[in-house]
Amino acid sequence: METLAQQINIEKTKHSKIDQVDFDDLSFGSIFSDHMLVCDYKNGNWETPKIMPYGPISLDPSAKIFHYGQSIFEGMKAYKDADEQVWLFRPHDNHRRFNISAERMAMPEIPQAYFMEGLETLIGLEKAWIPSTDGSALYIRPFMFASGKGFHASPADAYKFLICLAPSGAYFSGKVKVLIEEKYSRSADGGTGFAKAGGNYAGQFYPTQLAAKKGYHQVIWTDDHKHEFIEEAGAMNIFVRLGDTLVTAPTSDRILDGITRKSILQISERENIKTEVRKITVGEVVEAAQDGSLKEMFGAGTAAVISPIATFGYRGKDYDLPELENSYASRLKKRIVDIQYNRAEDPFGWRY
Ligand code: PMP
Repeated sequence: METLAQQINIEKTKHSKIDQVDFDDLSFGSIFSDHMLVCDYKNGNWETPKIMPYGPISLDPSAKIFHYGQSIFEGMKAYKDADEQVWLFRPHDNHRRFNISAERMAMPEIPQAYFMEGLETLIGLEKAWIPSTDGSALYIRPFMFASGKGFHASPADAYKFLICLAPSGAYFSGKVKVLIEEKYSRSADGGTGFAKAGGNYAGQFYPTQLAAKKGYHQVIWTDDHKHEFIEEAGAMNIFVRLGDTLVTAPTSDRILDGITRKSILQISERENIKTEVRKITVGEVVEAAQDGSLKEMFGAGTAAVISPIATFGYRGKDYDLPELENSYASRLKKRIVDIQYNRAEDPFGWRY
């Protein structure tokens, strides 16, 4: 029996763009590799995936993605080590989360072989696109959307699953300034916040634009009930260090179960860094900032890795965080990045 990977038809590009790319000066997610994987779901089945030159795709104007927003995605990275070996980080967790998102958006699940063998075949073909400069990686974007036709407001009968690749540098540059949001909500109990659904991000753009006008890079979302608890940021989970304890909010209907977040909790446990997973009130963070017990605040995500927050704004006032020599953020970032780039032992078995 042929494996799925052996059945994937590969149409190679005649004009590689790779020579036009400056791999020493990469922004985040703005240039794309030569090929993409495309897989159609029709009549209740996933068809054999194809790999083809990266480029536009054609859709019917009534495709339900345009009207009802059935769309989900994942964000992962491929890392190259000093010996040019290629590594993924906990990819099965991304596959699992993809299917959790699919279920919530009434979309078909993608079988593990399609996700993993599709990924491996595409990355194998695009190995030259994986940057080796420090802090850079090949960002991987698996996504699925409703391609089925019709204006009836119900789930589509056809979907497309794609994987595209973008050699990328850092997500943030410079000091990160965030605003604790009190008016708008990203998600609600019973809603879709735990899914990586496109609409969750669309709904964040306007409040984030308002925050950007005031000089903030990101919004920190609070709960939709009373805006009392710190939840997460636009594309990162949030950690605060109170004294010597690292605290993060529990995942819920409203919060994405980040792979970086859970890895940080596991590394911290091994390193004897005290952690607490519990609700964090805005009040206690403000109070801790005032009395000096708020030592650090950082975002954690695949794109942002671990991004220290320099300042947070709340009710018209900015609170600056101290610059620490031996921060948990820098220590944990080193641990996780060393595992990702195969520079250290991986006692957890995360590298793939
Ligand atoms: N929260 C949100 C809303 C996100 O989009 C992301 C990025 N996937 C994260 C948290 C971090 O998740 P991960 O560590 O799995 O990238």
